[in-house]
Amino acid sequence: MIWRIISVCALICLGKSLMLESIQFLGYSGGVPTTNSSTSSCVIDIGGSFVLVDCAENTFINLIKGKYPLGKIHSIFITHLHPDHMGGLIPFLFYKHVIRNQSEITLYGPDNLESYLKTNFEYQGFNPSYPINVINFSRQMEYQIQNDFTIKALMVVHGLPCFAYRFYDGNKSLTYVTDTRKFDQLYKFAQDTDLLVLESTFPDGMEQRAHDKFHLSISDALEIAKTVNAKRLILTHFSPRIGQNSLSNVSYNGHPCFIGLQKTKLNY
Ligand SMILES: [Zn+2]
Ligand SMILES: [Zn+2]
Repeated sequence: MIWRIISVCALICLGKSLMLESIQFLGYSGGVPTTNSSTSSCVIDIGGSFVLVDCAENTFINLIKGKYPLGKIHSIFITHLHPDHMGGLIPFLFYKHVIRNQSEITLYGPDNLESYLKTNFEYQGFNPSYPINVINFSRQMEYQIQNDFTIKALMVVHGLPCFAYRFYDGNKSLTYVTDTRKFDQLYKFAQDTDLLVLESTFPDGMEQRAHDKFHLSISDALEIAKTVNAKRLILTHFSPRIGQNSLSNVSYNGHPCFIGLQKTKLNY
């Protein structure tokens, strides 16, 4: 196994300038999949190469269905280790090995991600044939990837280590926040972002329950987006109790907040 814990980012050698171009959810369900959607994962196109945020069950097959070339997925940002966010990570890495896709991949996440992977690989008799880098966000909270392209991480409040990520390409920013209750630092972290992706696990009127369960409601998400002056808000991580009809009525700044599984361009 080629295994590295690195302190500098492996994306530096990509060569081409990195631009945030589009986002596509591979799953938007929170906690449990539904017949409409897998649990949380999304693909961000950064100029012909791709990063994933989270890697839920079915991510591998959803990537194939979306015609994403596996060799161009060079990074996976894991928010936290709840299975609805990373239940597909070991299978993804394993299937990539089985089909002999040898491209290097860098995994970002909480500091227990590394031991989780090592333990799984050991028990499952899996010895990856391609390089895997692991970057631990409790050690460093900001990386400059290439010229102006930076990634910041913020530990959110979810009862276990969980990170929000802010991607900035020198021109525009995408801030991805899932599985957290409202807390002060979140507002500063997401201030003036172009695209804000926020979880809204609970429907309106369930703010107290959302807070108690370390989550947000739809109205919490709208309030955060407005307060931080986000240009666009996209919601994700819905509990099965939120009907798709009620989601289709939610808008912010003239745009729908629910985009389903459609690829959406980030043209600001
Ligand atoms: Zn979750
Ligand atoms: Zn969670």
